[in-house]
Amino acid sequence: MTTLLQSLSHIHQQIDEAKRRYHRIQEVKLCAVSKAQSAHAIQRAYQAGQTIFGENYLQEALKKQSELQDCKIEWHFIGPIQSNKTQQIAQHFSWVQSVDRLKIAQRLSSARPEYLPDLNICLQVNVSQEQSKSGANQDEVLDLALQINRLPRLKLRGLMAIPAPMTDFEKQRDQFKPLASLFEVLKSQYKEVDTLSIGMSDDYLAAIAEGATMIRLGTAIFGKRLMTKSPQQTEQDASTWL
Ligand SMILES: *Cc1c(COP(=O)(O)O)cnc(C)c1O
Repeated sequence: MTTLLQSLSHIHQQIDEAKRRYHRIQEVKLCAVSKAQSAHAIQRAYQAGQTIFGENYLQEALKKQSELQDCKIEWHFIGPIQSNKTQQIAQHFSWVQSVDRLKIAQRLSSARPEYLPDLNICLQVNVSQEQSKSGANQDEVLDLALQINRLPRLKLRGLMAIPAPMTDFEKQRDQFKPLASLFEVLKSQYKEVDTLSIGMSDDYLAAIAEGATMIRLGTAIFGKRLMTKSPQQTEQDASTWL
């Protein structure tokens, strides 16, 4: 059986190799997606040096955060956001990567406590229109960025996307290309924009080839998730199954 330590070191090796192969000099941060993983599993990854963790469901995340208060974890919210959850999200996370409309950004902005640093924001972009309802359309992104950049207590950092699963490497790269171009435009407009969060367990090498600065891996780190419920179901009973 592969241990968590072995998975993590294998992934770091793969990241380094991909950067060399595709002549990418940018730093590639690893966000460990810990949805459906126990606080104990997170702690083991943390002890192995992993500090950035992504969670999709608020109640599940809050419970684990309270068990892991002693760990200096940078928590990223990466799931769909309902407006009645924005207050707690703004209080308990350093980053929110799944902002796809102005209303949510406004609510996060007004709920971000003064005593915390600005909340880091990535705009989630829809790259495969038919597949998913989440994410802003590509033609809305620059306008949305302009408006979000004006809001207090938020720091616009870049773009996030969840493309449709594809097995072909070149097709994976093709899906990332429009995002990489949008990211270049944003970077030229906003000095704090530095994050292109693309790439999951099955396509992170293609994402690095296209210039990802952050990849979000769950399965590749922790193994297959046991939970197979839909996000909506999980949201409802996340407080009970842990
Ligand atoms: C679950 C999830 C991931 C990780 O997916 P894996 O295929 O397990 O690596 C990444 N990003 C988001 C937004 C997710 O919901």
